[in-house]
Amino acid sequence: MKCTCCGKDIIEGLELCLECCSKKNDPQDYDKRFNYYTDNKQYDEAIFDFSKLIEIYPENGSIYNFRGICYYYKEQYDDAIADFTMAIVLEPEESINYNWRGICYFRKELYDDAITEYTKSIVLNPDDSTSVYYWRGICYFNKKQYDKAASDFTLLIDLYPKGVVTGYFWRSRCYRLNGQKESAINDLETALSLKPDNNELARIEEELEIVKAMP
Ligand SMILES: [Zn+2]
Repeated sequence: MKCTCCGKDIIEGLELCLECCSKKNDPQDYDKRFNYYTDNKQYDEAIFDFSKLIEIYPENGSIYNFRGICYYYKEQYDDAIADFTMAIVLEPEESINYNWRGICYFRKELYDDAITEYTKSIVLNPDDSTSVYYWRGICYFNKKQYDKAASDFTLLIDLYPKGVVTGYFWRSRCYRLNGQKESAINDLETALSLKPDNNELARIEEELEIVKAMP
């Protein structure tokens, strides 16, 4: 495999060597580089490349975002948080960076911090906050704040067609833990009526057994 620009040997799958990529400084090339490395789970190589690019373009927020995601996949959450924080400093209106910093806090079980990130993301981008409602709902759920969790799962159901079954399942769990047996059963039966896939079907049926056994 040769660099399509200078002809130097490069690893299979990339179009440009790092040097040509950095000279061209085209966001699309950075996207391709990121996708190639993440598709192949070559996170160390990606971190090396993006670190070089950050030296050359220290004010490009998306390069920090790319490197942060690689750290996230390597479960180096503090390094990832540092990169998403830099991306936020450089591009404070990009909601995606808050989502990523949120999931890092979530993995560290810092649910209050994660909720702050997701809430910021929703304010910045209210039309595209569907999976954000899911994650914020799970944070509230883990904090045992079942009313707030149920509100987020309701938004997930209302706003995100792909998340409807998941939304009903999780809202039913909130209802069960709040002692609202009938509401929990209603949500689970609605979820079943939507023909969930096999994975979801199994956990919905299991949950329904638990709810029905409630006094
Ligand atoms: Zn080259």
